[in-house]
Amino acid sequence: MKKIGVLTSGGDAPGMNAALRAVVRKAIYHDMEVMGIYNGYQGLIDGKIVPLDLGSVGDIIQRGGTKLHSARCLEFKTEEGQLKAIEQMKKHGIEGLVVIGGDGSYRGAMALTSKGFPCIGVPGTIDNDIPGTDFTIGFDTALNTVIEAIDKIRDTATSHERTFIIEVMGRDAGDLALWAGLAGGAETIVIPEEPFDLEDILSRLRSGHERGKKHSIIIVSEGVMNANQFAELLKEHAQIETRVSVLGHIQRGGTPTARDRVLASLFGARAVEKLMEGQGGLAIGMRNHQVVDYSMTEAFDGKHEADLTLYKLSKELAI
Ligand code: ADP
Repeated sequence: MKKIGVLTSGGDAPGMNAALRAVVRKAIYHDMEVMGIYNGYQGLIDGKIVPLDLGSVGDIIQRGGTKLHSARCLEFKTEEGQLKAIEQMKKHGIEGLVVIGGDGSYRGAMALTSKGFPCIGVPGTIDNDIPGTDFTIGFDTALNTVIEAIDKIRDTATSHERTFIIEVMGRDAGDLALWAGLAGGAETIVIPEEPFDLEDILSRLRSGHERGKKHSIIIVSEGVMNANQFAELLKEHAQIETRVSVLGHIQRGGTPTARDRVLASLFGARAVEKLMEGQGGLAIGMRNHQVVDYSMTEAFDGKHEADLTLYKLSKELAI
């Protein structure tokens, strides 16, 4: 393979730039050319394709977001859109593609691979919800952003002796809430993977209060319900007044952590190696601290499992 393409797609995540840099530098190191595709699959259809040299990915390893921009593209879900995309890549002499994104982006990559155009998926999403990998690029940065917010909210919660409900992202995965809840010392974590017991939550709040706890932090994953709904529940059932904080899009931005940059570098490089071997339809991931590659179908047929030992432990530690 002499020329490859790279794009970022779906929701952006900190560390996507570090992955892009790794793809470009690794490929050039092995005497390949790299074309950058702007705006995800939309840009592929529209031919927003430019050559990337070593310098074009300089000074981005530390930047959040994605230099190639991202987009959601309905047309690409159609056969016609996919054929247009392949046509564009042929026109530019591109023989293989690295797709950095979430599971939706993987489906697009698989569609191209099924049509004979090899693609490799690199998991970039703050949600950590891609089956087959222990971690995705962006999760660690988002987690640290949430922790910083929890620490700040805790200061005001303590000063005013308040119960705070903090809503975090994660779509249908509770990972961000779980890890943030444990690391932030939250009294309660509410995640989609575990049904919550309101009575249990209330009795924990009461017993904490009785032994002199000055505040309580409840982390609610967006996949369960929004924080205002949860606040209503507590008010209705126990007349508990709470304050709500919805962290929102700050979780998607910011300088990637060292851990995300290392993950992105490892994943980007492995993706290029797979294309060099002439392989397609694979996803890159991390399992037990080892970089792995596996069939992309596993990534959307499988189910992501949150680590529920964290859930159990956080309950034990927040008595
Ligand atoms: P993410 O990659 O973060 O999960 P999306 O689910 O929005 O984000 O997917 C990103 C893009 O991938 C979509 O806008 C679309 O262009 C493409 N895509 C998603 N699902 C499919 C599919 N089933 N077939 C082809 N392309 C898809």
